Amino acid sequence: MSAHQLVLKQRAELLSVLCGGGSAEPLDCVLDLLLAWEILVWEDYLSIRVAEKSLCSNVRQLLDVVYDKGEDACSLLLAAMNQVLPEEQKAGLSFGKECAVVDKNRPDTAASMLLADRPVLVGKLRDNIDGALNALLTTGCFTIKDCDAVQLPVYTPSQQVRRLLDQVRFKGETAAKTILQYLEQTEPTRPNPEDKENHLSANVLLYQKKLRSSVAAQSHSLSTYGGTGRFSLDDIYTDGLLEVMNGSGETTTLGLEDVVGPLGTLNEDADTVLVSGEAGSGKSTLLQRLHLLWAREALLTNTFLLFPFSCRKLNAEHRELSLKELLFLHCCWPDRGQDEVFQFVLDHPNLVLFTFDGLDEFKQGFTDEERHCCPTKQVPIPVLLFNLLQGTLMKGVMKVVTSRPQAVGPSLKRYLRKEVLLKGFSPGGIDCFVKKHHSDPAMARRVIESLQANMVLLSLCHIPVFCWIVTKCHQELLAGQDSVPQTITDVYLLVLQHFFQRKSSQSQGVLGKAWLEEHLDTVLKLGQLALEGLKASCYVFSGYELQRNGPTEQDVSMGFLIYCNDLSATDCKSYEFIHVTLQRFFAALYVVLNRNGDRSAISRLFQPQYRQLSGRSQRCLGHCIDSSVEEVESHVTETPNLQITAQFVSGLLSRRHHYLLLECCPAAVWERKVKQVVKLLSKGMQRHFKSIPRPVEGEKKSMHAMPSFVWLIKCIYEMQDNSIAQDTMAKLDVEHLKLTYCNIGPVECTALAYVLKYLRNPVGLQLDNNSVGDVGVEQLLPCLHICHSLYLRNNNISDEGIRKLLEKGMTCESFQKIALFNNNLTDACTQHFALLLKSKQNFLALRLGNNNITSQGAEQLAEGLSYNQSLQFLGLWGNKIGDRGAEALASALKNSTSLIWLSLVDNGVGSAGACALAELISQSKTMQELWLNKNCITREGVECLIEALKMNTSIKEVWLKGNNLRPEEEEELSKQESRLTF
Ligand code: ADP
Repeated sequence: MSAHQLVLKQRAELLSVLCGGGSAEPLDCVLDLLLAWEILVWEDYLSIRVAEKSLCSNVRQLLDVVYDKGEDACSLLLAAMNQVLPEEQKAGLSFGKECAVVDKNRPDTAASMLLADRPVLVGKLRDNIDGALNALLTTGCFTIKDCDAVQLPVYTPSQQVRRLLDQVRFKGETAAKTILQYLEQTEPTRPNPEDKENHLSANVLLYQKKLRSSVAAQSHSLSTYGGTGRFSLDDIYTDGLLEVMNGSGETTTLGLEDVVGPLGTLNEDADTVLVSGEAGSGKSTLLQRLHLLWAREALLTNTFLLFPFSCRKLNAEHRELSLKELLFLHCCWPDRGQDEVFQFVLDHPNLVLFTFDGLDEFKQGFTDEERHCCPTKQVPIPVLLFNLLQGTLMKGVMKVVTSRPQAVGPSLKRYLRKEVLLKGFSPGGIDCFVKKHHSDPAMARRVIESLQANMVLLSLCHIPVFCWIVTKCHQELLAGQDSVPQTITDVYLLVLQHFFQRKSSQSQGVLGKAWLEEHLDTVLKLGQLALEGLKASCYVFSGYELQRNGPTEQDVSMGFLIYCNDLSATDCKSYEFIHVTLQRFFAALYVVLNRNGDRSAISRLFQPQYRQLSGRSQRCLGHCIDSSVEEVESHVTETPNLQITAQFVSGLLSRRHHYLLLECCPAAVWERKVKQVVKLLSKGMQRHFKSIPRPVEGEKKSMHAMPSFVWLIKCIYEMQDNSIAQDTMAKLDVEHLKLTYCNIGPVECTALAYVLKYLRNPVGLQLDNNSVGDVGVEQLLPCLHICHSLYLRNNNISDEGIRKLLEKGMTCESFQKIALFNNNLTDACTQHFALLLKSKQNFLALRLGNNNITSQGAEQLAEGLSYNQSLQFLGLWGNKIGDRGAEALASALKNSTSLIWLSLVDNGVGSAGACALAELISQSKTMQELWLNKNCITREGVECLIEALKMNTSIKEVWLKGNNLRPEEEEELSKQESRLTF
């Protein structure tokens, strides 16, 4: 089929992928390419990218324009989309035959050069916008106002660059030349390895080749697919969600290539990048992908040598080593010219990258007490590792380290260049992973449908390791066994059953009802190995350790343990659990099922920090974990291990699994353990509650929860016992519960809602700056009735999540306030807010700042507002409602008897909008503050406002900073009306 026909036939699908996520980024990237390839001329671009129109109408216009241009244009449009869209969105689309972009002559003007290089420039300038604007200011090409217009916070960094480039084009050739000169000056000084290569010795090149092929071999497949050999990393790798946070807590999404790049840098002097994420969120896999792409020269092309390390393997290194020995013994041995190769590393730190996977699994907690900077002196491994991370040794070598977030304390944080958060799979990522896992599309569809039908399971699948288990155990799942998994313990019992089933069917057997009892011996032996390993931070087991703990060859053959994929110089055979979470699950099984175990095992799991510090300081559990006391840090590595094991113990002691465990554990022992856990959980919670400070007079009683509070909640959820949740929450007496920056994703939302729904009195639930997403929102619904306010700023929520939230919110009497600043909301959600406002006459505050709401959305909102007589606060800061939107809102609010505060800051409102708002002012008896900063109101609009204010006594302030007025005008107008602030 011709490209022309493909564009027509797939119009709906192309439209949906380019505007589906609500972000304009894919469209903008496609436009960048089409401009650079000269498929679109500037006038086309201006006709397509109209800010006042919705994203979908922009995309439609693009499709129309390109379609009219004929076959070549269509095929390049498809090529651009193929290049821009993530894999998961390309499924089902056809991009036609590959087509080559015709090389054009090098453009002759600076402006056309900027256009030809636009796709690259967007990436290059993203981290240097300030510098570029400075250059433009210095040459007089830009005014301060131009700079402000570029840097409006509503735009992402890429959008800011595009606005800058658009503005530069508008200003002409001198501005374009300024940018080109600026770029020339800021080109990185890193030497290009390509140039170096001419001067490199044959030995160094040979070493690079060997290192590349050894890294490629190590990273080719995933350990979870260990023995099966079914998938290579290429077949199954699915992009996870990566974010960085800037100094003021705002997050930006990253691509894999940005992990080592400048984006998100907080400390220019440091060389260590931390990739943090929960267990199973895909940290090791991400590193593996980086390694593989480097080995293939597809990424990190400026890195000449990459040395990958695994902290769990470094644990087993008891010798003292020099840096040279560490590199060559643990990564790759140079066949020739050792000294020369090492000298190359020393001389070119900027061409070298070290990666350390699983710092949280390293036996010793980070300290910076012992300084060491000599690359040839032998020292213990921890000294070597910590000095590399600090930069005392090999300053200038970039390091990427992965760890669970809880295991990184303040003393390491000060050496970090930046922290990249890995948040697991997006909903699209889950679909993509399942499709990659199942080559049969019908099966993939069935699995996806079964996940859609069980939101709890779907929320678990955001964590890749759960997604892997669920996909792996799809037969058990689809067979619709006794019950659908609800907790992580259910999921791990499923995988346990799956492995035993696989073995039984190999020997023609079928797993009986008492399958756990049948395999109790294996479970206990592996459990003991796992627990002792965790206690000693040991994740790799030698043949000797296996023998000592007793797992037989048959136990090992069950598949829970796999050979270590270790290409370093040590030859002895060693094993590890398929994934560390499975090791913790086995440890938990051992704690629950072992009849002779010591009675304190459970209490040690549930209160490790408290026990360790109780002699020194009697602070609560949460404070201990979050304390900046240095001494805590050497213990923190142990905490996440114990916490997840404790979660599994809670799950195994759930009454739901009683029938399965009964045969393996005497009822009396089981009951005793259940009671013990319930008591410990209750005590843990009490300690939290006691830490709640008395409210300051006039303020609400508020609790700022610590991460360990979320952990306790998750343990309670695992037990699936309503009465425990109810008893615990009966003792919590707060009006505001703050859980900001607590790594709350969909899984945590499920647990939170399960427990918080039993709160006695309504609370304000503040979940700002987490990763709740649409799935998490749905999980929160069961506790919505007990929330008078819900704060979900910066949580990746889209219109669909809001639809479900408001459907429920409408029926909840107490629900009165919502804050959704900085999510992915568009006009598609405003009809739901309108309905809420119409039907809920006690709703007080609606804050929708920094989303993508246009005049259409404002009109829909206005429809609801005209029927509402309760709303007091309406915030739309940083949207794009324009004059039309302002007019609609003003007219709807004229009869409001409740509105106190209205913000339309930064919304493209001009004088027409201001005049409409003036009418609102002249009629309102309640409004006290009107925020109109950063709009484009002129003198005419302000004069309307002044006239109206003459008739209004309730208004205290009207904010007008950053509008289209000269300083003299501002001075004159503020003299006329003192309530105006310019
Ligand atoms: P972590 O290091 O954070 O504990 P892993 O990288 O070991 O997590 O991931 C656990 C398992 O989850 C992997 O072995 C793999 O099966 C699956 N997985 C993780 N990330 C991805 C990914 N990006 N694509 C496909 N599968 C993944």
